[in-house]
Amino acid sequence: MGRAFFDSDADLSLLAGHTVGILGYGNQGRSQALNLRDSGVSVIVGNQRDASFDHAVADGFDVFELGDIAKHADVLALLIPDEAMPGIFRELVAPHLQDNAVLIFASGYNLYYEAISPPPTVDVVMVAPRMIGTGVRETYQRGEGFPSLLSVEQDHSGRALDMALAYAKGIGSTRAGVFLSSAEEETVCDLLNEHIGYVYELRRAYEVLTEAGYSPEAALLEFYVSGEEMELARAHAYMGLFHQLTLHSQTSQYGQLVVGKASSEHDQAEKQRLRGLVENIRSGRFAKDWATEQQAGLPTFRRAQRDGLSHPMIAEEGKLFTVLKRRQGDAEFGS
Ligand code: NDP
Repeated sequence: MGRAFFDSDADLSLLAGHTVGILGYGNQGRSQALNLRDSGVSVIVGNQRDASFDHAVADGFDVFELGDIAKHADVLALLIPDEAMPGIFRELVAPHLQDNAVLIFASGYNLYYEAISPPPTVDVVMVAPRMIGTGVRETYQRGEGFPSLLSVEQDHSGRALDMALAYAKGIGSTRAGVFLSSAEEETVCDLLNEHIGYVYELRRAYEVLTEAGYSPEAALLEFYVSGEEMELARAHAYMGLFHQLTLHSQTSQYGQLVVGKASSEHDQAEKQRLRGLVENIRSGRFAKDWATEQQAGLPTFRRAQRDGLSHPMIAEEGKLFTVLKRRQGDAEFGS
């Protein structure tokens, strides 16, 4: 196992005398800014002038336009979407970067694909939470924190690792554990998880059950609408993937372990598919295709969104949410 860091390995006082600038007040930005402030760190926020800007003001932060933040902060966390980051960095951040600043990335994407080339006069580190933004805040408030992957991509000052650890402590991550990694490793693991196709796997199962005459609500409750998956995810995380099977009946365990096991042929074929996905990511082909898609105005992406949302399963899902008195996109995952 690679090196792991905890609270006792990190010195928050290294951030004293520095101002942390959070660029982007979205999923990660808001939670990380609030956690840092609660940890006693001096934090300012940069965002385009819109509702998120106003939200940061309402939360009590000094908020600047994106183009001004690098003038006022010497530790900069780039918490804007990866696809928007290169342009914003080039035009609004790089011209104002202070010498000896620390640049913090929450994902390895633009570092691995070299879409951003910071000047040699700054430290460049990655502190990549393995947690969605709402979880970053909630686990901090519960005193648990959340794991992250960390890497030092450029060590101008000779203390880039210590600064990255101080930041990780400020957002609450060293409470849970911060693992030494690399931009490449973070990118490949993160993208593979997204490319495996879980949503289509569930949709296929829904289609097959409803084709066979079973009710949409029974299928949807079984696969995800009940919320049982949330409990299972906790069991996976805290007991282990195979150890948690003891929470299920023996019939269930037999089904999962024996019936659900792929034949060796299918296992090999599926591994081959996954190797292809990994190669697609590592070679940069995925990033190139995604960039081309964005330049073309997102036609394939929008088509897939329409296909996903117009599937009969979604209408059934909506009806079920109504019966269950759930508000779609409820606060827990939205605001
Ligand atoms: P969001 O999609 O939540 O966006 C963050 C902010 O960027 C918002 O404040 C948004 O402003 C602003 N923004 C979006 N587009 C533009 C643009 N074109 N110009 C200027 N500002 C823009 O990002 P995330 O928090 O999800 O991601 C931030 C980073 O964290 C990424 O590197 C991501 O890979 C990483 N990360 C994300 C995780 C997650 O769970 N979301 C988990 C781990 C890492 P506005 O609201 O005003 O539009």
